[in-house]
Amino acid sequence: MKALQHSYSMMDNNIDIYIQALNSANCGIIITDNTQPDNPIIYCNKAFETMTGYSYDEIIGHNCRFLQAQDRSQPERNFLKECIFKGNECRVEIRNYKKNGHLFWNELFISPVKNKEGKVTHFIGVQNDITERKRSEHELREEKSSVERKIKERTKELVEKEVFLSSIIQTVRESLLVLDSDYKVLSANNHFLNSFKVTSEDTVGKILFELGNHQWNIGPLKELLTKILPTNNPVIDYEVEHNFPYIGKKVMLVNAYRIEFEGQYKDRILIAIEDITEKKEIDRRKDDFLSIASHELKTPLTTIKGLIQLLQRMAPEGSSEKYTTTLDKVSVYVDRLNILISDLLDTSKIQSGNIELHKEPFKIDKTITDTVENLSLAAPNHRISLIGSTESTVLGDELQISQVINNLISNAIKYSPGSDKVEVYINRVGNFVKISVKDYGMGINAQDKAKIFERFFRARDIQKKFPGLGIGLYISHEIVVNHNGTLWVESEVGEGSTFSFTLPIMKNDEN
Ligand code: ADP
Repeated sequence: MKALQHSYSMMDNNIDIYIQALNSANCGIIITDNTQPDNPIIYCNKAFETMTGYSYDEIIGHNCRFLQAQDRSQPERNFLKECIFKGNECRVEIRNYKKNGHLFWNELFISPVKNKEGKVTHFIGVQNDITERKRSEHELREEKSSVERKIKERTKELVEKEVFLSSIIQTVRESLLVLDSDYKVLSANNHFLNSFKVTSEDTVGKILFELGNHQWNIGPLKELLTKILPTNNPVIDYEVEHNFPYIGKKVMLVNAYRIEFEGQYKDRILIAIEDITEKKEIDRRKDDFLSIASHELKTPLTTIKGLIQLLQRMAPEGSSEKYTTTLDKVSVYVDRLNILISDLLDTSKIQSGNIELHKEPFKIDKTITDTVENLSLAAPNHRISLIGSTESTVLGDELQISQVINNLISNAIKYSPGSDKVEVYINRVGNFVKISVKDYGMGINAQDKAKIFERFFRARDIQKKFPGLGIGLYISHEIVVNHNGTLWVESEVGEGSTFSFTLPIMKNDEN
């Protein structure tokens, strides 16, 4: 600083104030003398010392290049050199190094001082440490490129997913439509277009109910579809029999859902339509076959039963015990066969809606007691206990109700190989009689429980071990429903099952 003071000693007295001002500046300031060889630094302020970590004495006399240490190949250096050579002012951002070797980014302004002749005598350099700013800029750039990379990856993923999904949608053997909230078709898969013999132009963008001569304007279906968005209630397995313009009379199974995406409901409806005409026809043929076959089997069986009874009555004198016991056994097996065939007949009657109900008032406690007694005789190895009574009268078909109890108790015995206990409860619950059959057998898993009352359903693991046709519960369920009651099951695998049903008590019998 002394040197500078000396150089300017002839100048006005304010010089001290100027130097004080330079020293209190936040940016580093240096002055170089261009008239001396190698343009040495002849002044630096405090901030420059702080910024570089060098002391005033270590700085004065040096060319600025010491600040770049070994990092010499920066293009900014050439630019600086050129500006100094030409006596121009300029601004560069350059990598500099502190005394301790740490890098810092220097934003450097240089401006020449010229004498009266226009010759450059000095350069004034003003510098700011912009390391932080550079770091943030760098981080920002990194962040930006990582976000861009992620967006690219995500877009690629989405495109792949979309291609994947749309190829599934186009391949499934089910007609699919997506509708917006105005029931306008947003997309239709190939299966839909092929099945209904329509083009994409005829379909997409059109209101569903106006498609192909209003072929989808089917009252009850329309009502269900229009309720989906306001209520979120899906349409499940709705059968529509309809005469479609280009494909004729068909039975379609319609399922429709409000589309949910990432946990949020959208104003879009997905409709899946399956042509079940052929399946229905095959089912109908099977039902017809079942009905005819069971009729045909029943007739000779009735004759056989009659003949056995005749043989039992007309047993030859002195016939052996073996003869009579064999005849009794034949009679028992014929009875069993008869029950099986009657069950099959019942199923086909239920299917065709021809099941007859002979309703008469009867005392339910007695029906239960009689059935339990009969079964106890037939299954002497099991203890069937009857708990409770109701003293009520039910209006219904007593034979059918006793068939239900029979089915439930027979199942309770059949599916509890390791237990000999079956409990039958009968109670009054409000205006209903509730009958429960509880066993301590193998139980039923949740998946099977949902299907147990379906026709021909048998749990997979028991199929080979226990005989049966899988229709007893189906018939029982239909009978109970026809009597305005409900039949249900509660069960845990390995712990047993409780089948319960209710029947309404006859009005004038209620307490
Ligand atoms: P079936 O006994 O002839 O198979 P059902 O219609 O009576 O026909 O029963 C259907 C299926 O329900 C049975 O195959 C069996 O898997 C299951 N099931 C019925 N009752 C019971 C029970 N008490 N415990 C366990 N499983 C049962």
